[in-house]
Amino acid sequence: MSASLQPGTSPVIQLRNLARTYQSGEVEVRAVRNVTLDIHRGDFVAIMGASGSGKSTLMNTLGCLDQPTSGEYLLDGVGVAGLNRKQLAKLRNSKLGFVFQSFNLLARTSALENVELPMLYALPIVARRERRQRAIAALEKVGLGDRLNHHPSQLSGGQQQRIAIARALVNRPELVLADEPTGNLDTRTSIELMGLFQQLNDSGITIVMVTHELDIAAYCKRMMVMRDGVLISDSRNPSRRCAAEARSSLDLAEQDANLA
Ligand code: ADP
Ligand code: MG
Repeated sequence: MSASLQPGTSPVIQLRNLARTYQSGEVEVRAVRNVTLDIHRGDFVAIMGASGSGKSTLMNTLGCLDQPTSGEYLLDGVGVAGLNRKQLAKLRNSKLGFVFQSFNLLARTSALENVELPMLYALPIVARRERRQRAIAALEKVGLGDRLNHHPSQLSGGQQQRIAIARALVNRPELVLADEPTGNLDTRTSIELMGLFQQLNDSGITIVMVTHELDIAAYCKRMMVMRDGVLISDSRNPSRRCAAEARSSLDLAEQDANLA
């Protein structure tokens, strides 16, 4: 046990018989049942499964937004059970970045300010000037260096999701959790976004992503499938797709269609 408590040497995520049961009135919903798994640094995991299979519940638990009913969760070697709200918030802020299907950006706020936001709560405190520099760097990293002062409504869905990714990265998280990040995007934009995730993953960021599209999971290194709260399959993806290549073939196909 002591070895696994040393940050840096243990898997980023260790789940042991993790379960989350909701009590709604008389009915017990066993949303996640006895999930055991390890996720190591540098992995890129897709969690698939039908609607209601427990994907979001699992992600909320991984994200320390919700506590398991039973079982064990170690995040970067640290047991999450028993931490109080303040400790959980600190853990979330320092170790995790979140990306959601609906982007969750502040509407009347520039891209730059949206990305600065998580640093307002960071400890140790990040000085104003550094906040700005880091937000600019994060937006440049996602290809939006020329849109710093745009508001979300002035940007496309794909660009808005890029802001959300910059915001997720700005506190230099250990792990990025994304729940259906391409759910509101068209095919081309989804592939571009997967290209960005692959690039970030290549630079060492661990990513866990929920998707119900096999086409999107195909860009990940590892695929998990949930059914009725149970993890029914967990395998490496030997024929992983490269988003940059997929995008060029899409471009060529469109050129052909235009010429025809
Ligand atoms: P998915 O993300 O795969 O669609 P969820 O994790 O959202 O699945 O839900 C798994 C199960 O738990 C579903 O049966 C859902 O109705 C139930 N559930 C989710 N959240 C709650 C809640 N807050 N209270 C009661 N039941 C819930
Ligand atoms: Mg869900």
